[in-house]
Amino acid sequence: MKSFHIFLLGAIFCLSLCVQTASAVISFDKSYYSPLNSKRPLRKSTSLIVLHTTEAPSKSALQKLSALGECNYCIDEKGRVYLIIDRQREAFHAGRSMWNGRTNVDKFSVGIEVCGYHDKALTTAQFRALADLIAELKHCYKIPDHCIIPHSQVAYATPNKWFTRSHRGRKRCGMMFALPVVRRLLGLKTRPGSDPDVKAGRLIVGDKHLSNVLYGTVQIPRSVVAAAVAAQKKQQPSEPPAKKTKADAAPPPPANAKKSPPGKKQPSAPPPAVPPPIAVASAEVDAIRRDEGNVIGKNHSAWDIARNAYNNEHTVYTFPDGTKKCGHQIIDFKSIPVGTKVEVNVSDENLPDTYQIIGINGTAEDIAGEETLSFQTIYVCPDGHYFRGNQLNQQSLKKLRYNTKVLTGYSVGGPVTVKRTPTDICGAQWRAKDTFYLINNRLVPGNQVDEKKIPSGTMVFYRS
Ligand SMILES: [Zn+2]
Repeated sequence: MKSFHIFLLGAIFCLSLCVQTASAVISFDKSYYSPLNSKRPLRKSTSLIVLHTTEAPSKSALQKLSALGECNYCIDEKGRVYLIIDRQREAFHAGRSMWNGRTNVDKFSVGIEVCGYHDKALTTAQFRALADLIAELKHCYKIPDHCIIPHSQVAYATPNKWFTRSHRGRKRCGMMFALPVVRRLLGLKTRPGSDPDVKAGRLIVGDKHLSNVLYGTVQIPRSVVAAAVAAQKKQQPSEPPAKKTKADAAPPPPANAKKSPPGKKQPSAPPPAVPPPIAVASAEVDAIRRDEGNVIGKNHSAWDIARNAYNNEHTVYTFPDGTKKCGHQIIDFKSIPVGTKVEVNVSDENLPDTYQIIGINGTAEDIAGEETLSFQTIYVCPDGHYFRGNQLNQQSLKKLRYNTKVLTGYSVGGPVTVKRTPTDICGAQWRAKDTFYLINNRLVPGNQVDEKKIPSGTMVFYRS
């Protein structure tokens, strides 16, 4: 993937710009401190640090992260560290997630957002700030290096049009943080050697490229290296870092590169006034995206382009004949013609899960694949009755009526009573967008439900 190689170069350039050891005292900016802090429970344990990229510029990202309480910390392009949700409280940052058999990673992790994109270089200031923050959190929670991992490593999705089973690869958020060259920059010596949930058969691989980034080695083509180095030289003809950058950026791949630990090299290299290599790389990545990134090809599906937003109402498909359709209006995603342009307009980094509907999104098997008869697949009939998949068989499945809602990867909680509140049933998830209350035969999302008006006896379906 060209864009990723170019990103990688940016990261290596950053390395050459002398990132220092994590020793500074961090001052937290509280100007985006989330109003939801008091509503978030304290975590019972903390065993992971999850690293994200916002996939949006800092201003809009910070506003949204604060309003929805979606991370503990956020680092902007200048390296400023914002406290969003207190470090000991639950932030809603990982969405549908699993690591080593434990789901809902929010419950046992700190979430750090870095303003930027998973396939673009971050700034040197961000790497410095992130290294400092990680060092502090590691010390605070005694977390080993292999438990500091990208969001894409823990996120997963339930069956969809492309995969009949739950799979890793829901997103590529923060995937560069798994690369050895980047981890060295952050003062991290190890990373997980394999995916424990894939190994145990709980998930399958849904994105081979991601898997290669997380656990394999990523090759940097010589042509990309040469072009980027030439561009850097052009912009900075007499700067000494160019030489070092070339050495750092040259193949073999980063996983095998031999380097001294960060902070112990180039002790006197002055940081340049502007970071031209990153700007050049970013421009090239943008060009690649525009040219081929969002057009459906023979081996480039709507899933590759839009991921979990493939069937979202804000994702627009422009067919070769010029007609347009939104994601939720398309039934057969596999028959979309080559050359169709896909515009993903969802800024929500944690796109919430929702239900699909029999007859509109296909049959039960189209929707839930091999998990059709799983106890975590819930069928809510138009008359308000509901079934778990393991209560059904092939015959009763066929009798499910048009307009039956299907939730994949869900638990059934309830009923809500005076003595058993939604919080008792599913904790902080009670008011989440992807938690549903069965009220008057309708599924009402948690963020739209009035706590005081939930009828006694209401069942709750929440992401498991
Ligand atoms: Zn993320």
